[in-house]
Amino acid sequence: MDGEPLKTVYLKPREADRLRAGHPWVYYGEITPLREPIADGECVQVLDSRNHLVGCGLFNSKSKIRVRLLSRREKLTLNAEFFKKRIETALQVRRHAMPGATSFRVVNAESDFLSGLIIDKYEDVLVLQTTSLGMDQRKPMIVEALKEIFHPTAILEKNDSPSRTFEGMEMVHSTLYGTAPEGDQLIRLNQIQFKINFDSGHKTGCYLDQQVNYKKVGDLAAGARVLDCFCFLGGFALHAAKGGAREVIGIDQSETAIKTASEGAKLNNLSGCTFINANAFDWLIEHAKNTEIEQKDLFDLIILDPPSFTRNRHSVDAALNGYKEIHLRALKLLRPGGTLATFCCSHHVDTQTFQNVILNAAFDAHKILRRTQIYSQSPDHPIIPVIPETEYLKGFAFEVAK
Ligand code: SAH
Repeated sequence: MDGEPLKTVYLKPREADRLRAGHPWVYYGEITPLREPIADGECVQVLDSRNHLVGCGLFNSKSKIRVRLLSRREKLTLNAEFFKKRIETALQVRRHAMPGATSFRVVNAESDFLSGLIIDKYEDVLVLQTTSLGMDQRKPMIVEALKEIFHPTAILEKNDSPSRTFEGMEMVHSTLYGTAPEGDQLIRLNQIQFKINFDSGHKTGCYLDQQVNYKKVGDLAAGARVLDCFCFLGGFALHAAKGGAREVIGIDQSETAIKTASEGAKLNNLSGCTFINANAFDWLIEHAKNTEIEQKDLFDLIILDPPSFTRNRHSVDAALNGYKEIHLRALKLLRPGGTLATFCCSHHVDTQTFQNVILNAAFDAHKILRRTQIYSQSPDHPIIPVIPETEYLKGFAFEVAK
């Protein structure tokens, strides 16, 4: 299939600019009816309405994204060598931007010119997600490339992303190579150990996209009383404890997450950490309801890193209410001069909108905020501005005026 002359998909007039600027998705509405049969997953070339080459990529008739471009050149031979080169290039970006990191995202799909492919490294275990049919069909050559580059003990496939259904694929968990770790896998993020479970963990295991922010926020915690809301495995909480916090409370509604976070504190010999299984909204309301909150109940540092409250454009307003509500509650529990470190992982809420929500909450809470840090996703999740979907995580640290 690959290596032979490529079949052609033709764009309608005026549909090439976004693609030429660097976006890799060719939508079904942008192409003319096929002139020859093309198999799902096949590699095709895309020509504009004047027959000029736009690029080559993987076709799928079942997806609204008909072609995912992988190359701007005429020829594209998809084999283990191709993947090896692309993955090595991606790896260099990480080695440069996150020197010393042992667990990180090696390939972040569009951000690394490999639409439909995610590869995460958890020490010597690699976890793969293929979200396009064309990539899914090429798992064997991707595995070959990964074995050569990393010599991993295992390569797992954690293909449970709902977006697979848009490509006509099932959800699967499997071991593609080696032996899957039994039980939890120990990993290190900024020299702190975490227990990751590939079956129950979020994303491919944990939130690698926060790795650099864990350290930055942890560095604000010396001597502080810290509250980590939506803590999951305690990424921020454990970094705060390591950063010298005098007390850390982590809250999550997942019992498993709370148990693992508590074990993480012991594993790293970090004292003063308490993890509470609760709904963060309820907990904050409960603790912020008194008009006269006692001094001892206030926090010096509060971290808010909730799940995305919206997965699409239509529920943004409801999501903004949710964001405002937690900020309002959290601000009431902050000591004057304390810091709020807050994150939003929804692509549909942009940085300015997110900041406005926080400022609205501050207005209602009669607090003045000074912005001290601006956060983004870790550099192993690179952003390509002409592909807006690659930018999703944003955050700020705000100091509350005394
Ligand atoms: N800060 C975490 C990631 C948070 S992901 C980290 O860096 O790893 C969101 C977390 O919020 C999940 O662990 C989920 O279990 C939890 N969660 C979702 N809704 C919640 C709620 N209403 N109250 C408390 N936790 C909640």
